[in-house]
Amino acid sequence: MADIVFRNVTKRYGGTLAVDDASFTVNDNEFFCFFGPPLSGKSTILRLMLGLATPDTGEILIGGRPVNTVSPAERNVAMVFQNLALFPHMSARDNVRFPLVERRVAEADIEKRVADVAAKLHIGHILHKPPAQLSGGERQRVAIARALVRDPNAYLMDDPISALDARLREETRVELKRIQRELGKTLIYVTHDQEEAMSVADRMAILENGKIRQIGAPAEIYDRPASTYVARLLGSPMMNILKSVRGAEGVEAAEGTIRIADKAAPADAVEIGLRPEDIKVKAWSEGGAGRPARVFEVEPLGGYTVVTLAAGQARLRALLRGQPDIRPDAMVAISCEPGRVHYFGQSGGALAR
Ligand code: ADP
Ligand code: MG
Repeated sequence: MADIVFRNVTKRYGGTLAVDDASFTVNDNEFFCFFGPPLSGKSTILRLMLGLATPDTGEILIGGRPVNTVSPAERNVAMVFQNLALFPHMSARDNVRFPLVERRVAEADIEKRVADVAAKLHIGHILHKPPAQLSGGERQRVAIARALVRDPNAYLMDDPISALDARLREETRVELKRIQRELGKTLIYVTHDQEEAMSVADRMAILENGKIRQIGAPAEIYDRPASTYVARLLGSPMMNILKSVRGAEGVEAAEGTIRIADKAAPADAVEIGLRPEDIKVKAWSEGGAGRPARVFEVEPLGGYTVVTLAAGQARLRALLRGQPDIRPDAMVAISCEPGRVHYFGQSGGALAR
C-alpha cells in the first residue's frame, strides 16, 4: 500500500518558494503526473517524496505513515533511471539484473525478480540477446524492466523519456502506461510535455511557480480548466483566449471577432476561451450564421488542418478535420456553440455559466 499524501507542504531555497503550500493525495496504483513549465517545482516535489529534501512546513505521509524524518532508504520509493538507454556491452538479462546486483541483493532473489518482471513485460525469450539484436520496441521494454526490477512502494520518474526522439517517445509512453497497469504500482511521473502528461496520467497536477493550480483527470482538466493559465497549458493548438464584452444578445469577443449567443454568459466574464476544435469555419459564400474572418494561413497536417484566422482585431486558430478546401485570404464565417465556450473573470479564474 503506498498512497502518498502531502499536507500543506512548503519548501524554500533561499528566497525561492520551490513548493508552495502543496496538498494532494496520490492514490495507490495510480499513474500520477506532475506537469508544469521548467522551474515550477516538479523535481522538488519528487525529492521531497524520496527524502532527499525536507519540507520547511507541512507533512508528508507514505502509506499512512508520516515520513518527514524518515530516511530515503526506509521510505522505499524508487527514483527510476533518468535515461532509459541500455548498456550496449551487456545482455538484456544483465541490464535488467544491474540495479539489483548494484544493491548487492542475494543471487536467488535476483533470479526470482528478474524472472518475475520479464514475465510481466513479455521479454523472457529475448533476455539472452545483446541490445544491438533487439528491435526498438524490445529495447524499450528491457529498459523499462531494468527500471522496474526493484520492488518499491512507488516509482518516481523525472522526465524519463525527454531525451528520446519523438517517435520513440510516443511508443515508450504507451509501453509505460500498459506496464504500469499490469504491474499495479503507484507511478509518479514528471513531464514538461503536455501531450505526454495527458496521454499517460490517470490524474495530473498542474504546477505554476511551486503552486498546484489544478488536480484532476486529464480529460476533466482539458474540458474544465480552472484558469486561463491551465487552459493555455493543455491542448495544441492552444486555446484561443479573447477579451469579451457583454451585450444584449450574449457575449461579443475582442471587437467583433466572434459573437456567442449565450444569454447565460456570466456578467463578470472579462475573457472567453475557445478551443480550436470548437470553432466552426464555413465559406462566406455559403451564407448563414457566423461573423466574417479572413484566412491568414493554412497548415495542412494530414488528418487535420490548422487554420489561422484574422477576425476583427484578433487572431484565432481553428482545428478542422481532414483537408478542407480553404485558401489563404479567403473570407469565411466563424461561429461557436455557446455550450463550448469557457468564461474567465478578472483574475483569470474560470466562471460557471
Ligand atoms: P522543475 O523540476 O519544475 O523544473 P525545480 O523543482 O527543479 O523545478 O525547481 C523549482 C524552483 O526551486 C526553481 O526556482 C529552482 O531554481 C529552485 N531550486 C530547486 N532546487 C534548488 C536547490 N537545490 N537550490 C536552490 N534552488 C533550488
Ligand atoms: Mg525538474
